[in-house]
Amino acid sequence: MRIAAVEAVPLTAALQETFRFGTTDRTTSPNVVVVVRTDEGHEGYGEACPVPAFTGETQSSIVDLVEGRVAPVLIGADPLARSPLLHALAGTARFAPFTAAAVDTALLDLAGRILGVPAHALLGGAFRDRVEVHGSVGWQEDPADMARTAARQAATYRTLKVYAGRGELSADLDRLAAVRAAAGPGTGLFADVNGMWAPGDLPRVLPRLKEIGITLLEQPLPPAAAAFQRDLVASHGIGVVADEAVRTAADAAQVAASRSASVVNVGHSKLGGPTAAFHAAGVAAAHGLGVMVGSVIEMGIATAMGLHLAAALPRLACPCYLMGPLKYRERITTEQIEVIDGHVAVPAGPGLGVTVDERRLHALDARRRG
Ligand SMILES: [Mg+2]
Repeated sequence: MRIAAVEAVPLTAALQETFRFGTTDRTTSPNVVVVVRTDEGHEGYGEACPVPAFTGETQSSIVDLVEGRVAPVLIGADPLARSPLLHALAGTARFAPFTAAAVDTALLDLAGRILGVPAHALLGGAFRDRVEVHGSVGWQEDPADMARTAARQAATYRTLKVYAGRGELSADLDRLAAVRAAAGPGTGLFADVNGMWAPGDLPRVLPRLKEIGITLLEQPLPPAAAAFQRDLVASHGIGVVADEAVRTAADAAQVAASRSASVVNVGHSKLGGPTAAFHAAGVAAAHGLGVMVGSVIEMGIATAMGLHLAAALPRLACPCYLMGPLKYRERITTEQIEVIDGHVAVPAGPGLGVTVDERRLHALDARRRG
């Protein structure tokens, strides 16, 4: 059996409402679905969800890279030779993690479908059949808007991640306090700052964060300043997650060496795919760090991948960020994820265990929409 075709489908996907995190405001998402087909009629799907603040990748650069440089390597190859294929593609996609993630996911889905096993089995097997997820409250100027979102989500999730880091510091903290008041004392709260605070801000913010009941702080400082996080955060008993600081498995070792975080976010999109994310998780765990599976709010394909990855990790330090499809207006998979008791089930069935709806994919095809 050989790989016969590789396609990249650019989507015009709209979010339910404008989602603001870090420096990004997203109303639509320029995702790309990668399809790898064999000469025997098997297919595997991957999804790229580029974030301009993270890399220079765009929807058209992803399509060009997949069709112009990835496809010639894959076509004619054995679809089960995943590691050799990823090795052959390493140079092509080194600085294009979102592209690499979609290709890796498509190959994993394809191999799972050919072998009749779920994707998590190809990562060594599942430790769980459902994954606890957290909701998220995007940044908004008006604290009352964030409070409303938080109150709505607190009915579904046990833990919420709240975005901070924009604007004036004390106003930012007031927004977090408004979220706490709306979510109630029983809801766990994380804050994700996307590296937008400065070292000098920490002595000011940490006592207030403690008072508000933030238990986990994600990437408070830019990666280059992350060493400043160590003592201050530990002294206030707030866990720290490294996100933007971890783009490779080697970065996870660096976090351990600098003791700049207690947990590593191993979202597979930013790490260049589930294979690299699984390695990064192994490196983090080998150094005694916790891991959690993050995301960049992807649709059904990449989110299913995240659920398989989370299933295959021995320990998760906290709830994962794997409810992205619920933030979109449209779906691309027949199955919709459902949050029950704060958990999402790991999809069952071969490969990613989700059925891509070709009709919906066609309807969202950006080339068709011109
Ligand atoms: Mg983050």
